[in-house]
Amino acid sequence: MKSFDVVEWGKPLQQAVRETPEPGPHEVLMRLTYCGVCHSDVHIREGFFDMGGGVKNVLADRGMKLPLILGHEPIGVVAAVGSAVAGVRVGETYLVNPWIGCGKCAACLKGQDNLCNLMAAMGMVRPGGFATHMMVPHARYLVDVQGLEPAQAAVLACSGVTAYSAAAKLGLPETGQWVAVLGCGGLGLIGVAILKALGHRNIIACDIDDAKLDAAKAAGVEHVLNLKTGGAAQLLALSGGGLSGMIDFVGAPATAALALPSLQKGGRFVSVGLFGGATTIPLVALAMREISLMGSAVGSTAQMRELVALVQSGQLTLPAVQVRPLAQAEQSLQDLQAGRITGRVVLDAMSEAA
Ligand SMILES: [Zn+2]
Ligand SMILES: [Zn+2]
Repeated sequence: MKSFDVVEWGKPLQQAVRETPEPGPHEVLMRLTYCGVCHSDVHIREGFFDMGGGVKNVLADRGMKLPLILGHEPIGVVAAVGSAVAGVRVGETYLVNPWIGCGKCAACLKGQDNLCNLMAAMGMVRPGGFATHMMVPHARYLVDVQGLEPAQAAVLACSGVTAYSAAAKLGLPETGQWVAVLGCGGLGLIGVAILKALGHRNIIACDIDDAKLDAAKAAGVEHVLNLKTGGAAQLLALSGGGLSGMIDFVGAPATAALALPSLQKGGRFVSVGLFGGATTIPLVALAMREISLMGSAVGSTAQMRELVALVQSGQLTLPAVQVRPLAQAEQSLQDLQAGRITGRVVLDAMSEAA
């Protein structure tokens, strides 16, 4: 098998060729067809996330060892299965849930590997999808994506389920309430598409880049706001007195600072983006105005299945993706880091012979 690996923290990916592994009893070997490139791959390659206040979450301390194959938006065809695997067929296409838990804790037993304290994700701790092949530890992490276009479906494994899970946390039963999406990169655009698929009509897309706001308009959002020139006052005016919910796909002090001045009483702010930094919260206003600040990261296999069903039903149209050969993994990370990409890049693993 061929792959593109992090060999040294922060340094360019290197091509590697190694023996294709054989599946153990419960394992499924996938011949990958596509893998999306996520902004967090940029951070993972650096080896840390900035937790704010000078604190770094160092990935080596969380079990990540080099060399590592990045990539946590994999989709592929089952190439071989272990002796104890049931319910999946060789030759069929599946999306892979890369958020693999310990399998033993209360969260894992409920199918919420994403809440496992010992999560060992593919592309972070286990080998990921910037490769021709990938070993999946159990068939329960495979999601049937019949009828979906595989390159577009790949992004459901991270950005799709991340946006879906964040939208669910808004807890807005009435679809006429005002919701702001902060950040309209790949994740934000899928977030907008999912909010629309769930019936939300009053969405304000925010970014500091007009090209990204144009992409949000093309995705059907009527209201956009450039945060270079506008802020809480414009959000209050557009929404006629305050937002019911905000999803922050940036995760920077400047975007978090919009929460309290822009939300109505009882509003929810869901923080998703991993830009990094820290913020100060006026606690009395938080209490008196009953504002909820919530965090959200990725999602469960069940949520991926709900998301696939939303696409299959025709309610959700997945955003177009930019397909590049697998060998452009490094270039794609650099382009993402430099902000040169609108929407999502998906690597074509079939461009490399196994
Ligand atoms: Zn991701
Ligand atoms: Zn667990």
